[in-house]
Amino acid sequence: DLIIKMDPEMDSQLKIGFIGAGNMAYGIAKGILSGNILAENIQVSAPSVRNLGRFQELGVAVTHSNIEVVCGSDVVFLAVKPHLIPPVLNEIAQHITDRHIVVSVAAGITLATLEELLPENTVTVRLMPNLPCMVQEGALVFARGSHAKEEDGALLRSLLHHCGLVEEGPEAWIDIHTGLSGSGVAFVYLFAEALAEGAVKMGMPSSLAHSIASQTVLGAGRLMRDTGKHPAQLRSEVCTPGGTTIYGLHMLEQGGEHASCPSAWSHSFKTKKTHH
Ligand code: NAD
Repeated sequence: DLIIKMDPEMDSQLKIGFIGAGNMAYGIAKGILSGNILAENIQVSAPSVRNLGRFQELGVAVTHSNIEVVCGSDVVFLAVKPHLIPPVLNEIAQHITDRHIVVSVAAGITLATLEELLPENTVTVRLMPNLPCMVQEGALVFARGSHAKEEDGALLRSLLHHCGLVEEGPEAWIDIHTGLSGSGVAFVYLFAEALAEGAVKMGMPSSLAHSIASQTVLGAGRLMRDTGKHPAQLRSEVCTPGGTTIYGLHMLEQGGEHASCPSAWSHSFKTKKTHH
């Protein structure tokens, strides 16, 4: 395994820079810091002080100069909004050398665009993280640019290891992953919200309903990850014949007009209290 081959000492000497100090930079920085990278080896830049405070709390050096970050880093994360990638690359391009790995997390910005706006032979990587990086439970997929070697990928994997699951694939998977996991998080929240609403409708206090809904999503996710079972298999394991779960699933499958289905479904608990 490439991760095992990484030299942890070399790894801890790496200098990491973030251009952009938003949620994504913060999530990745927190993940990286829970590995063996020291805060003193990380720098972040953003034009406004507003975004920099929480990085200072992590012990990370902050600046308004993107060029300073580039000059002091080996791995540079581009974590600005996608429309700002061209002007930012324009600004930093002349300071990028062959020691740099430029990692863009900007949605929709292709490796071809990055390579076009950076000096020839620049090592580029396109990375798509998601918000749970903040709690070291992210799902990250990256694709290497044409000048990025397998070792560069291995280095990135080892760096991001504490952010969550890190996978490498062809660039086409990045957009797929954006829907699956970047946006997927919001889809899960919509479901969790409906789940909790159903319980509130039936009389449970909202805060308790939300904490149980979050634990349910967490538990269901961990069980799926840890067992490696297909979700349909796990689903069938919860269904007692003639019980409330199969009744509720049937209601969910009845479709879009049942957007508030968990509340409809919770009615089944009233009528079928004796089953799971
Ligand atoms: P954000 O708005 O929270 O952060 C953007 C940061 O960029 C801010 O700190 C801002 O001050 C800074 N900035 C603005 N102009 C700048 C400039 N010229 N130079 C340096 N910094 C500048 O955005 P975010 O949610 O962290 O998203 C950042 C990138 O991450 C986007 O490209 C987005 O597509 C990508 N992304 C976000 C998510 C997510 O869940 N939020 C997931 C995957 C990818």
